[in-house]
Amino acid sequence: MDDIKEILIEKGIIKVFDYQELDTDLIDTYNYFENKFQELYQCKADIFHLDNCFFYISNSYRCNAFAGRIENHNIIGITNGYPVLIKDKFNDNFFSNSLCIAFLNKKSISDAYCDLHEDQNFKLNEFVLNCSIEYTFGHEFQHILQFNSSKISKDALYSENLDIINNDFNLKKHTWEFDADRMASYEVLKYAFSVYTNLKNKDNEKLKCLFYIALASIVITKNLFYFGVMNQFNQEYTINKQDFYTKQFSHPHPLVRIFNIIDYFYDNVKDDFPKLEIDSQELFNNVLGISTLYFNNLIPNQNVMENFNQDIKDNIDEIYRYSQELYDFAIKDKSIKKLLKKRGIKF
Ligand SMILES: [Zn+2]
Repeated sequence: MDDIKEILIEKGIIKVFDYQELDTDLIDTYNYFENKFQELYQCKADIFHLDNCFFYISNSYRCNAFAGRIENHNIIGITNGYPVLIKDKFNDNFFSNSLCIAFLNKKSISDAYCDLHEDQNFKLNEFVLNCSIEYTFGHEFQHILQFNSSKISKDALYSENLDIINNDFNLKKHTWEFDADRMASYEVLKYAFSVYTNLKNKDNEKLKCLFYIALASIVITKNLFYFGVMNQFNQEYTINKQDFYTKQFSHPHPLVRIFNIIDYFYDNVKDDFPKLEIDSQELFNNVLGISTLYFNNLIPNQNVMENFNQDIKDNIDEIYRYSQELYDFAIKDKSIKKLLKKRGIKF
């Protein structure tokens, strides 16, 4: 992997962020994220027999991730703002009262949350952080698969977050984002299950709790962008939301993306774990509950999640209609269709 990277650096095609001269704390943070992404990429590249793959950290202080094909190389990257901003947002302090979620549930689920909380080998904020990384990586990796599946000849670069400066709407691009979000949410589900298999004491209720927290991690990540606070370091965050839209900009509206992610996650838990008898309302209540506890700590007195609920309610018909349109378009897209068949996914 690294030889290709050196050549592209020498040619001046990519500019890599150098963190070796920074403070030890920052070096540790960058090492953690770089290792995580590299391990995930190595593993997936092997499974999907992809060559010319590498990961790097680029120079930008905003929080973003990207996937690209440059001169036949499969590139996944994050900006140097990403590790610092994400780590800051998933600080343990913001999860200090997360156990309160237990009391909103029936006894069996509530006990499972308490058991997880007492498990020395399970750290909630670390799990939330890792789920968020799995989601971001899974999304970018799906773009790599889309690029390779469609055998595009020209170079392409997709950034993860909404570009509202260039209003370059394209239904195919929205569809590819829709597909990447679905596959990424499935990767998070698989990751949550792998954490469950490593627990000493296992039961169905605990697995449910892990799924609730895992999905909440994606919803929190997406909402940090939706409410415009991801790129702020200031402890007094200013909320700055993107108005609802459908056919505009580089990515579907965050509410459409969140709705799609929740929907696909639920469908997969139901199909892959029928014995759990997962209840969609219980899943939704827990995801919203965990997110609310988090945002009340991060941005007190601003009722972020109430705002989110209201926005969902106000736009539910359009969210549903546009998601259906993206789905219908996705299953006709050659590249996506080929990938769905390859993975044996029914559609
Ligand atoms: Zn994307």
